Amino acid sequence: MIDLHTHTNESDGTLSPHELVRAAVNAGLEALAITDHDTFAGYDQAAPGAQSCGLNLVCGVELSTRYRDRPVHLLGYFLKGGPPDEFRDWMSSLQSTRHKRNVELVRKLQSCGVAIGIEEVYEPGRKLPGRPHFAALLLSKGYVSSRQQAFDEYLSESGKCYVARDEPDLEESIARIEECGGIASLAHPTRFSRDRTVAEAAIRAMMKAGLRAVEVHHSDFASGDMEFYRGLADRLRLLVTGGSDFHGENKPAVQLGTGVNGNVRVPKAVLEDLLNASG
Ligand code: AMP
Ligand code: FE
Ligand code: FE
Ligand code: ZN
Repeated sequence: MIDLHTHTNESDGTLSPHELVRAAVNAGLEALAITDHDTFAGYDQAAPGAQSCGLNLVCGVELSTRYRDRPVHLLGYFLKGGPPDEFRDWMSSLQSTRHKRNVELVRKLQSCGVAIGIEEVYEPGRKLPGRPHFAALLLSKGYVSSRQQAFDEYLSESGKCYVARDEPDLEESIARIEECGGIASLAHPTRFSRDRTVAEAAIRAMMKAGLRAVEVHHSDFASGDMEFYRGLADRLRLLVTGGSDFHGENKPAVQLGTGVNGNVRVPKAVLEDLLNASG
């Protein structure tokens, strides 16, 4: 079993890179990809430890992109030695748009009567906060009674304090990943649309922009989704990726490797196919 979609506390997970490596070894995973939002810091820290305990660690990233005016998460995998400096520089520029958004979001929440300060969002040790951290703060301060309510009322696109981030286009993001030898995969395609006809049409269009893979195993999937996307990947000759989308205590129902109530199980062959496609 492998897991190709996980987050550390360098983005919005709660385990440190070292803790995540240890958890992966304890869970008996044969390979682990760290796919933090907009950063390789988690992968970089985890790499030496993974090597010394014989865990096959894959370098990945998850980007928040825009496609036809909708948010789309795109995974990038760099199976042959990580991304070049040029791609890392681009990550730094994406990080600054996130910081800018966070400052603006604090201001907007304050104007909605929420007592929140930027120093709470950037608490010591947290380098790249995201909306899940805002959701946790709104919950702990008693403004909402669940993280989901924080998104619904304040943070989601329809929430009263939503701040749009300057996000790269999906097409540009695919091109940048593929140009430097990476593999671009559409993350959790059911989040794009639960309507499979709509999702399939979008994926066909994304393939024209260079998309090479789709996530076929994910903890958000309902019954039948995995089979549908596996069949779709087969029909469209897309590569397959998959993982739990583990975030530690920020998504407590999701277990590393196995997802929610065991709804994820990614076979090792998935990684072998990706490696072969990487040339
Ligand atoms: P950010 O990258 O900081 O904009 O935060 C995006 C993350 O927030 C996503 O990866 C999800 O985990 C979470 N998220 C975004 N929208 C929602 C929503 N409507 N409901 C619950 N979680 C959400
Ligand atoms: Fe996340
Ligand atoms: Fe995602
Ligand atoms: Zn993710």
